[in-house]
Amino acid sequence: SIPLSFFSGIGVSSRRGILVKGGNYLEELNRVKTVVFDKTGTLTYGKFQVTEVRAEGISQEELLEVAAAAEKHSNHPIAQSIVEACGIDIPEKNIQDYKEIEGKGVAVFYRGEEILAGNEKLMKDYNIKYEKAENHGTVVYVAKNGKHLGAILIADKVKKDSAKAIEGLKKLGVECHMLTGDSRSVAEAVGGELGIENIHSELLPQEKADHLTRIKNETEGSVIFVGDGINDAPVLALSDIGVAMGGIGSDAAIEAADMVLMTDEPTKLVEAFDVAALTRKVVL
Ligand code: ADP
Ligand code: MG
Repeated sequence: SIPLSFFSGIGVSSRRGILVKGGNYLEELNRVKTVVFDKTGTLTYGKFQVTEVRAEGISQEELLEVAAAAEKHSNHPIAQSIVEACGIDIPEKNIQDYKEIEGKGVAVFYRGEEILAGNEKLMKDYNIKYEKAENHGTVVYVAKNGKHLGAILIADKVKKDSAKAIEGLKKLGVECHMLTGDSRSVAEAVGGELGIENIHSELLPQEKADHLTRIKNETEGSVIFVGDGINDAPVLALSDIGVAMGGIGSDAAIEAADMVLMTDEPTKLVEAFDVAALTRKVVL
């Protein structure tokens, strides 16, 4: 039988905006030694803004237009920033064969021309010659009919309480990792700012899952994964405790998760550890 106090632990948590889907997860929190974070939408706001458009041989407006056509049907926060920056509502009839390539970008036919928008992996897959753009943020490369058209530079921001959350976890003796599909330079900038030593970047969703399995095998205690759910549902499912962001997170992620942080604040996870420790004291 489950001790009554676990139910009150759940009550305390929920009043603080932490949804726990069972007393066993509060109990398990006391055994956690490692927390693995997704980056985009989890440690950062996932609210991207276009900061620069580098067009080659066409105007910036034209580059943004084809990119927005390619991104119109994507739910990725990167896509939404490009559609917003373009400002034109692209007619549906001009968009065909939309394809989302997980962890890489999108491909579409716009007015009968093949448009690609995504990272370097996508450009390599399609044998596009491009010039690497140096940026502290994310770079979306754009190509039309096999030819590079330019790059869109996009910036995201680290959440204001992320550093405090990492500090709090370290104080509890918990090891922190970050897994991201984003570039190494962006990952290292964010990880450096937050004091996360274990950074794994440029990962495809399956590679994120492989890393989580490896981390689980190397950890004595339980392992938490915290994500917004975009491209990381498999990792959420593999972890001992899957934590999703309730605001920005996808419905599927919220459903798949064992815990949901309703306000999207990473510090809520530290609070959950505190509640779990209190709950244990009450039980003993
Ligand atoms: P993360 O949440 O860790 O950034 P994702 O798997 O969601 O990981 O994305 C990994 C990378 O794939 C992004 O940083 C971006 O470079 C590229 N990408 C994914 N979706 C898109 C998209 N719709 N448009 C452009 N690039 C994308
Ligand atoms: Mg993400």
